[in-house]
Amino acid sequence: MLSTMQDVPLLVSGILRHGQQVYGESEVLTVVNAEGDVTTASFATVAERSERLAAALRRLGIGEGDRVATFLWNNQTHLEAYLAIPAMGAVLHTLNVRLFPEQLTYIVNHAEDKVIIVDASLLPLLAPLLEGMPTVEHLVVNGTGETVEVAGALRYEELLAAEEPGFVWPELDERVAAAMCYTSGTTGNPKGVVYSHRSTYLHSMAVTAGGSLGIGEMDRVLSIVPMFHANAWGTPYAGFMTGADLLMPQQFLQAAPLAAVIRRWRPTVSAGVPTIWSDLLRYLRANETDLSSLRMITAGGAAVPRQLMEQFQDELGVRMVQGWGMTETSPLCALAVAPRQASVEEEMDWRSRTGRVVPGVEVRICGDDGTILPNDGVSVGEFEVRGPWITGSYYLDPAPDRFHDGWLRTGDIGTLDARGFMQISDRTKDVIKSGGEWISSVELEIEVMAHPDVVEAAVIAVPDERWSERPLVALVLEEGTETTVEDVMAFLVGRVSRWWLPERWAIIDEVPKTSVGKFDKKVLRARYADGELEVLRVDPSQGA
Ligand code: ADP
Repeated sequence: MLSTMQDVPLLVSGILRHGQQVYGESEVLTVVNAEGDVTTASFATVAERSERLAAALRRLGIGEGDRVATFLWNNQTHLEAYLAIPAMGAVLHTLNVRLFPEQLTYIVNHAEDKVIIVDASLLPLLAPLLEGMPTVEHLVVNGTGETVEVAGALRYEELLAAEEPGFVWPELDERVAAAMCYTSGTTGNPKGVVYSHRSTYLHSMAVTAGGSLGIGEMDRVLSIVPMFHANAWGTPYAGFMTGADLLMPQQFLQAAPLAAVIRRWRPTVSAGVPTIWSDLLRYLRANETDLSSLRMITAGGAAVPRQLMEQFQDELGVRMVQGWGMTETSPLCALAVAPRQASVEEEMDWRSRTGRVVPGVEVRICGDDGTILPNDGVSVGEFEVRGPWITGSYYLDPAPDRFHDGWLRTGDIGTLDARGFMQISDRTKDVIKSGGEWISSVELEIEVMAHPDVVEAAVIAVPDERWSERPLVALVLEEGTETTVEDVMAFLVGRVSRWWLPERWAIIDEVPKTSVGKFDKKVLRARYADGELEVLRVDPSQGA
């Protein structure tokens, strides 16, 4: 028996229209300098400009299914592109502005982008590559003041000014492509993930839900995570559909401007990777601050050290909640909101887990042989997920090895408990296989970084004759400190199992980072293999 319910498609134009009609007075604030000055536009204005953008793109020959790329910071124009491009039936392709030139060219050609909308400040990065991007027919420059010129480039504001508002959004099939994003390639070549209107709509609702970020009209969302990194974790659409102001930091992502922006514009919610938060914490210890507007910040994309969450709570009074997701999962899958039984003292234990699965997503763990393991909080295996906003393949690349009976294999290893809490211990590619047992590189890093004189630390597996692999700690120490590698080793004793204690250490200036700010262990492994790391040998029994 079928239901009597209407089968209305879930479309990005629905998000757009709702923000326009119901929350027309909510605002988008774009930061324009390091002092934190902003330009402001109402949702009504942004929606009207989105209509003009769609009309302009149509005039340029963009039809349904055509790819329109963005090479933009988080700003008002990027939001207009987020709304207009999918709503008109074209496909928004967000390009990561920090990619290596070869990867960028590869991605644009692979997606066959027809138009690229680029910030004037970013044009110097893109202009030299255009010759190698034959599908790109038009370049649209946002803002002014670029230092290079591209013949035939169009200007965003001129295109919009030449059009009328009132574009009629088409009734699309909710399953067609709305947007695409390539994985950042931490573990290999970038792969294209294509989101549908339906997946985008449902994911946005999941982000606004009370059990997750609970975003609504009372909020002002500071999205530090870039709009090219897994949809800025869903915050732009979630904000637009519920009337939350959107505070867009553009390229002013260093601790000093961020602190100024938070003090002046008082966001209530924010999202970013842990390295951003630890930089901000270090800055705020030395500078006057006011973070009292923030009711919650989310951190994810990499393991969040518990210590960082405690410091935010104790020193700044800010509640940080850890989340987990991937480009492949839109990305929100899990958010570590404590269960109701948790006492105040226990709350941090829960919050510092990787995440608790959100409604709409199913998660399970699998052993090496493909058997499903129990959700007992102890069995360790690879996480597999499925749900309406989880990818079922990659663009022009079915990659069957990444799927298992219709579930996405995440490449993350850990445990799952009976209440849906996930604890990730490592990535399959980073885990250290020592004498037939696994050492979690992530846990080891977190324990090393708990030492007050350690700025950051990354752990990689290196070959070992006896144990097959052993950990090597690449360590960044606080400038001018007298702390030695032996001191850090002594600090580790009792914090990790004895057999985890690493014999190999290397002091480095900075941990190399990927284009989205994660530790780039591929680079560290290559440096080790090329003999570039000066390895210090420490006898763990000396510390014990
Ligand atoms: P890439 O896979 O290229 O790094 P993504 O941004 O899609 O790009 O990264 C997803 C991965 O980030 C996850 O598979 C996981 O390994 C890692 N990750 C995300 N959130 C967390 C978290 N809270 N703790 C540990 N790892 C995380």
